[in-house]
Amino acid sequence: MHPFDYVAATSVDQVNSVLAEHGKRARPLVGGTDLLVQLRGGRFELDVVVDIKGVPEANVLDLNGSLKMGSAVSCATVYENEAISAAFPGLMDAAELIGGIQIQSRASMAGNLCNSTPSGDTIGPMIVHGGQVNIVSSSGSRTVAVEDFCTGPGRNVLEDGEWVLDITFPAPSSSFGAAYERFIPRNEMDIAVAGAASSLTLDGSGNISEAKVSLAAVGPTPVTVGAIGDLLEGKTPTAENFEAAGKIAYDAVSPISDMRGTIEQRRHLSGVLTRRTLAKAAERAKAG
Ligand SMILES: Cc1cc2nc3c(=O)[nH]c(=O)nc-3n(C[C@H](O)[C@H](O)[C@H](O)COP(=O)(O)OP(=O)(O)OC[C@H]3O[C@@H](n4cnc5c(N)ncnc54)[C@H](O)[C@@H]3O)c2cc1C
Repeated sequence: MHPFDYVAATSVDQVNSVLAEHGKRARPLVGGTDLLVQLRGGRFELDVVVDIKGVPEANVLDLNGSLKMGSAVSCATVYENEAISAAFPGLMDAAELIGGIQIQSRASMAGNLCNSTPSGDTIGPMIVHGGQVNIVSSSGSRTVAVEDFCTGPGRNVLEDGEWVLDITFPAPSSSFGAAYERFIPRNEMDIAVAGAASSLTLDGSGNISEAKVSLAAVGPTPVTVGAIGDLLEGKTPTAENFEAAGKIAYDAVSPISDMRGTIEQRRHLSGVLTRRTLAKAAERAKAG
């Protein structure tokens, strides 16, 4: 493995300055559960790894109706917070199934997002919860929707010198529900063959006022299926309507066949998981 320096940063400015100085030869580290594996495997070479876990702003976890989640916050910290789990159930579903307990205690959702693999389990849930990514660098800051963040397998909108400081989520209404499920060949510690994140908001009459579905591992980036929102808006949350939404998901995806699954299996799973997660999101929305 190529030798690299390790910087334990304690401020945003320090991270900015290391990344500005080294460009592509430096990367932020949170849990290292992707980064260190990739470095050891020779996927790329770095001169500096900058650990952001000592940066106070990256450790913020502030629920005040809306949620601000610093990029260094671990998955376990998210799902162990009962108020956050109740208000943001899609995030909880995903945080609870990343790896095992040791991985969840180190790994961050921001790291999962910045790694940008199509199978990343937290990305779809962050999309259906309306996440906005706060990107910083020595030249300033900008905000990008999680939905627009990934640009290809392992690629995203971050330019040299930029990093993610935090991700914010709007306050959900009392009749909002969300859910994430994935299919893996064994019960845990595996990469999704396909995954689906869904969210629903119900109006005062119990009809669907907004619906979002984002699918994992069935395209080069997360696949957000806008036609499902169009179909469901104004309709009742019934099994028949969710079945129709599943058919749209089946038709909307263009996955590849690989060692984990075939095209047909992934399309089938997209339909089934869409139907199931919409039903679970509806139950949660009704329960308030
Ligand atoms: C045993 C095992 C099981 C796993 N199981 C799952 C699973 O079930 N589902 C799943 O989706 N993944 C899984 N993973 C992959 C990994 O754990 C997750 O992607 C995790 O969320 C990565 O978070 P991290 O904090 O460890 O990221 P790191 O490894 O620290 O970083 C990942 C990448 O993002 C960059 N990065 C990190 N933070 C920032 C930032 N703030 N700004 C800019 N760039 C940043 C890093 O430079 C690096 O390129 C597993 C990994 C292992 C080793």
